[in-house]
Amino acid sequence: MAVIIDTTKCNGVNACPEGGLCIEICALNAMENIEDRPSVIENACPECGLCILNCPNEAISKP
Ligand code: SF4
Ligand code: SF4
Repeated sequence: MAVIIDTTKCNGVNACPEGGLCIEICALNAMENIEDRPSVIENACPECGLCILNCPNEAISKP
């Protein structure tokens, strides 16, 4: 389990209209910045959906 990020919609943390909100908003620290790309730590994400609801680019979804 873990959310997936559509790289055609997310252009990276620096380009994010909300400054990488998906990383900031995750209470479980399951999203991290790896070389300017948001990256989900698979075994840390229970798909709570918070980042999905808040991503300004609607780039995050459940598989
Ligand atoms: S909030 Fe959305 S657009 Fe911003 S870095 Fe995260 S996935 Fe990309
Ligand atoms: S779905 Fe929830 S737990 Fe998973 S990365 Fe997004 S905010 Fe974090």
